[in-house]
Amino acid sequence: MSGSLYPCIIGGEKIVSADGKVFKDINPADTGDIVAEFPLLSRQDAVRAIDVAREAQAKWAVTPVPERGRILVKAAQILEGEADELARLLTREEGKTLAESRAEVARAVSIFRFYGVMGYRLRGEFTPSAEPNTHIFTLREPLGVVSIITPWNFPIAIPSWKIAPALICGNAVVFKPASYTPLIAYRIVDALQRSGLPPGILNFITGPGSTVGSELISSPKIDAISFTGSLEVGEEIKRAAGARNIRIQLELGGKNPAVVLDDADIDRAVEMVVRGAFGLTGQACTATSRAIVLDSIAGEFEKKLVERVKRIKVGNGLVEGVEMGPVVGEKEMNKILDYIQVGVNEGAKLLLGGKRLTGPEHSKGYFVEPTIFTDVNPDMRIAQEEIFGPVLAIMRAHSFDEAIELANKIEYGLSASIFTRSLPRAFEFINRVQAGVVKINKPTTGLEPHVPFGGYKKSSFGMMREQGETALDFYTKIKTVYLGY
Ligand code: NAD
Repeated sequence: MSGSLYPCIIGGEKIVSADGKVFKDINPADTGDIVAEFPLLSRQDAVRAIDVAREAQAKWAVTPVPERGRILVKAAQILEGEADELARLLTREEGKTLAESRAEVARAVSIFRFYGVMGYRLRGEFTPSAEPNTHIFTLREPLGVVSIITPWNFPIAIPSWKIAPALICGNAVVFKPASYTPLIAYRIVDALQRSGLPPGILNFITGPGSTVGSELISSPKIDAISFTGSLEVGEEIKRAAGARNIRIQLELGGKNPAVVLDDADIDRAVEMVVRGAFGLTGQACTATSRAIVLDSIAGEFEKKLVERVKRIKVGNGLVEGVEMGPVVGEKEMNKILDYIQVGVNEGAKLLLGGKRLTGPEHSKGYFVEPTIFTDVNPDMRIAQEEIFGPVLAIMRAHSFDEAIELANKIEYGLSASIFTRSLPRAFEFINRVQAGVVKINKPTTGLEPHVPFGGYKKSSFGMMREQGETALDFYTKIKTVYLGY
């Protein structure tokens, strides 16, 4: 099936590339299914999008904030009204199961609603002064033009949680989605346009990271960059933006631990580790990629885990009963299979899986078996590096202290969970674990939109968290006013 050509949007106008070049948006569960085609824009197009955004932003900055909020709430309503179709599209484009897509679309709706309501709550501070007849207050002002660059793994939620706060704060945006998932991204822009967002405030450009993306990080006309993606590109942005001293927010990789103590409800721990490790095909920055299990219960935990994982039905996410979809592309699949080989070569014991699935249900897509390694030691590459696929490494600890030490012995620090019935141990874990998100008796995955999100160590860069009201700090600068009367 061949897909229709969709446009990019600059200044409210639909555009394609000057030389007519396009790229294909392919269903990873069935590579014969071309979901859409999108323009392969050039660096010059990105330059134009930034100029157009800069020109449009001044008027948006003085648009009353509740009016900006009204547009976001309207977009939430549009997305909600189209939720079922969007979820199917998301599954076709990215591969996750329909249930996972529905949850992600619902999250995008909540995000637009939440920041829409912020139209009435974009507050500063009003404080007493040490001087007589003086009031002090603070105002929030927009930054100007923001580059938003996003990955493919949450292709509607992540753009939404960056675009919505950027807009409510009065910024104009140039948005580049990942090339695996441009259509669901286009639908966000389309919903905002239909909600009355003025032309030029949200510009949508597709094309290679190395040209279009590179302009979005190096242009002197950009005031801030919000990026989610790999550590490698994050490092490049740090170098490019550091030289110009602009505000950046980088949300990068994870290698998240689930610690299972000897007083845990083992059945629940198994279920939650399965959800964290193999839900979303393990392609979540918050995925559980390490299970750190106390020695005394490790045998029982592993046995129950293997039994449960054997029952995971892998297939096209649109099919009823499928629990795990394909990985997003051939390159990503090969990287995962290479890591599995690395684990075997390093001497870890392969408990389950390890291969590409190629039977009749799987031959057209990029399917990898849910894979479990045990006897993993903390220095192995499979215990340290982000694999970004359905691969779980089990490590044994002799004590609670050793489990925390193993959890922290890593350069990442995004999310971490613990399974225990002990409140004191849960609190000790909360205090000692080096992670930006901590879950007790819950999977490492799964976030709510109204609270801050971000990691410790190499998982995040930039002092300001995403999501919740905290996100407003990134997208505004504070002006302090001393009013004498
Ligand atoms: P990626 O870094 O390859 O790409 C992310 C985006 O950057 C894409 O839009 C890409 O086109 C663009 N890009 C690539 N090269 C660029 C360049 N030189 N200049 C500017 N832009 C460029 O990442 P990915 O493969 O799309 O996503 C997977 C990664 O994202 C994983 O490492 C995962 O952990 C991370 N991630 C992190 C979070 C988080 O919140 N911490 C959430 C989701 C995903």
